[in-house]
Amino acid sequence: MSDTKLIDQFGRTITYVRMSVTDRCDFRCVYCMDEKMTFLPREQVMSLEEIQLIARAFTELGVDKIRLTGGEPLVRRDVLSLFNGIGALAGLKDFCLTTNGSQLEKYAVDLKKAGVNRINVSLDSLDPVLFKEMTRIGKLEQVFAGIDAAIAAGIENIKLNAVVMKGRNDNEVLDLVNYVREKGIDISFIEEMPLGAISSHDRADTYYSSDDILQSIQAQYPLLRSTINTGGPSVYWTMADSPSKIGFISPHSHNFCGDCNRVRVTVEGKLLLCLGNENAVDLKQIIRDNKGDIDILKRHLIAAMGNKPKEHEFTIGGEVQVVRFMNMTGG
Ligand code: SAM
Ligand code: SF4
Repeated sequence: MSDTKLIDQFGRTITYVRMSVTDRCDFRCVYCMDEKMTFLPREQVMSLEEIQLIARAFTELGVDKIRLTGGEPLVRRDVLSLFNGIGALAGLKDFCLTTNGSQLEKYAVDLKKAGVNRINVSLDSLDPVLFKEMTRIGKLEQVFAGIDAAIAAGIENIKLNAVVMKGRNDNEVLDLVNYVREKGIDISFIEEMPLGAISSHDRADTYYSSDDILQSIQAQYPLLRSTINTGGPSVYWTMADSPSKIGFISPHSHNFCGDCNRVRVTVEGKLLLCLGNENAVDLKQIIRDNKGDIDILKRHLIAAMGNKPKEHEFTIGGEVQVVRFMNMTGG
């Protein structure tokens, strides 16, 4: 079965899997979590071995890009063993991590050794007070140290992810651009997505469009629309006077579903065929019912692709359509 590809009913080949390794986190970002979160009981969470088995099944079906995310992946106990296991899988070309950066100083060198070649660090503000407000707990200096450690470890592709909220950090867009230019890394600006009901703010009030961000950067720096495609949803622009790239992830203002090449696996083992959709296959149950038989797992993965929807179903304001929080699905 090693030559089989995962192709959905719209002809899209799935080559990219994002896997959540924990729903827990050492931050409580206002757009992602409620202040008081209840996390999953241990028996509902996949073991590291189960996560690795799913990763292996996917790579044997042609997936060549895996991103580990969460919650905060680097807070899970023994998580390095998972990085080492996945990094050794044949056929994997792109091994990525999304992290809040809090533990990156400790892990950067080992992640590089495990084969991680792409790290996204979420950072919404360079102001320690606002950073604390937006993450509720985070310490900005730890994230700065983590970014510097990843650069020093020689991780090839480092990118910041910044969620921009009107009235909070929208006035920091240029400061963030200047920071990545100075560090020689990239940045993607993300529109807030309506994932999970939160009580801290009304998402319709804080919505800030990618087009507004683009305009404020263009007022300072000439940008060139780029055709670069890293296999993710970002649309990139390059700068005439710097190698730093500026990306935009805009689920509201620009639909990115047409060339979607990815699926997600939650830490409970649910295969989500689309971020904005509740369709799911219980891979953990399949593994546990079949004593970890990888061929049976692969057959289920192939069959599941037939249910991948054409596009997501987000709305701003009105009803929250997707009840999952981002930390459950992995951003
Ligand atoms: N804890 C890690 C981190 O923060 O990078 C990984 C998980 S986090 C859920 C992944 C990404 O999702 C982060 O860049 C975060 O900013 C983003 N995110 C979380 N909730 C979001 C929301 N409601 N809308 C848009 N992006 C969101
Ligand atoms: Fe944690 Fe990442 Fe969610 Fe922030 S965005 S609360 S760091 S999982």
